[in-house]
Amino acid sequence: MNKNRLVFIFFGPPGSGKGTQSDMLSEHLKLPAISTGELLRNEQRLKTKLGKEAARYMKKGELAPDKIVEALMDKRLTKRDMAKGFILDGYPRNKSQLDDLLRLLKDKYDIWLVEVRVKDKEVLNRLSGRRICLKCGASFHLVYKPSKKTGLCDVCASKLAIREDDKPAVVRGRLSRYKATAAPLLAYAKKNKKLISINGEQPITKVKKDIFAKIAKLVE
Ligand code: AMP
Repeated sequence: MNKNRLVFIFFGPPGSGKGTQSDMLSEHLKLPAISTGELLRNEQRLKTKLGKEAARYMKKGELAPDKIVEALMDKRLTKRDMAKGFILDGYPRNKSQLDDLLRLLKDKYDIWLVEVRVKDKEVLNRLSGRRICLKCGASFHLVYKPSKKTGLCDVCASKLAIREDDKPAVVRGRLSRYKATAAPLLAYAKKNKKLISINGEQPITKVKKDIFAKIAKLVE
């Protein structure tokens, strides 16, 4: 294992802010952040075969098939920018994906799991207000991160919409599936003493501060 090559795997319920936090850590450490949800939504925007197949599952809040996600990840992981380490958001999402990732990375990187904890009730509150740009993928929130012009994207001025999988009935399904899929990640992290657990029900800047403080000794 190479101590200088760090991998941070973010996990938390939908709407926990793990995407925002992994992007901020990415900027701080100058390491790339990869979100499988974003890779999949990008395939949909490009209307590829993989994207169309994944959409059938994502709309219902179900996990996309492992073979699709693993194909996208395998491709992404071979890019040069991964050499020094990287940050993952939304992957791995189950035991099979975890085993696949560990097989690829285990002896090459120092792997840490960052759990962003948020209770169910707060998840439902948060997701009902989330809006995304269908064109560029930028994410906003009616209360926590409003766009400058209501209903329009700050980045590309396209229309904002609620994600199909943020609708309340779908969110409940995603939550219960999250709990099942997080279990092997937690078990692995605890067993190997690689868990960084953060209270995600605080303001974004405080969550960020807690994460940066906990990883400080790893990156100095
Ligand atoms: P996220 O943006 O991480 O909330 O992911 C949105 C949706 O993309 C999920 O509900 C899944 O349908 C799909 N997805 C994202 N990451 C994965 C993954 N690692 N494995 C399977 N499906 C995924």
